[in-house]
Amino acid sequence: MESIESRLKAVVASLPPQVTLVAVSKFHPVEAIREAYDAGQRIFGESRAQELVAKAPQLPADIRWHFIGHLQTNKVAIVVPFAELIHSVDSLRLLRVIDREASRHGKCQDVLLQLHVAEEETKFGFAVDEIADAIGEASSLENVRLRGLMAMATNTDDTARVRADFLSAKAAFDNVKKSLSVDSCGQFDILSMGMSHDRDIAAECGSTMVRIGTDIFGERFRKQN
Ligand SMILES: *Cc1c(COP(=O)(O)O)cnc(C)c1O
Repeated sequence: MESIESRLKAVVASLPPQVTLVAVSKFHPVEAIREAYDAGQRIFGESRAQELVAKAPQLPADIRWHFIGHLQTNKVAIVVPFAELIHSVDSLRLLRVIDREASRHGKCQDVLLQLHVAEEETKFGFAVDEIADAIGEASSLENVRLRGLMAMATNTDDTARVRADFLSAKAAFDNVKKSLSVDSCGQFDILSMGMSHDRDIAAECGSTMVRIGTDIFGERFRKQN
């Protein structure tokens, strides 16, 4: 099998320059993360609170950890101290808890709202028509900074469907950006979409940040959430 370093370099080379890479290291050991780190990668994504908290202290302090999985409110307190960006805010309740914990840590937590555009009914996130309310709420909270949106496309081989999902996320992103009159707390500039199998389509549809696991680290052998 190819090394993590060569896979990482191939992924980086394939991305348009305006797209930021989050290397999704969930279920992979710290040794694998260190290999990618040594090859120059600094942003890593984890999807489970306990796993993030167990790994982060064993790794270099200049790693920028992104939390990308469904976050339970009772795990927010352990995630906030580590997370540069939380991609997966899927309820107003979660947003308020993040605000409270960030305030306790004297930090302004960067977050993305997770948008529900896929066909699957089980996917977490806000519907497109719920986003405006969520934005209003976010702007009233002092310790969260809304940086953009995150979306996952329908898990299908039908590329037209995937493209349609990503394009509705992009449209929602552009609408919000237009509606934000005064940028009170930082900029709204991140559209996180695209995984190993659909990252090219995501990039074509306006993604600014992709979350890639398998193409860098290989298959995950433990159960995923
Ligand atoms: C696991 C995961 C990824 C990465 O998926 P790959 O197919 O391994 O690239 C991206 N985003 C989220 C939210 C994930 O949970």
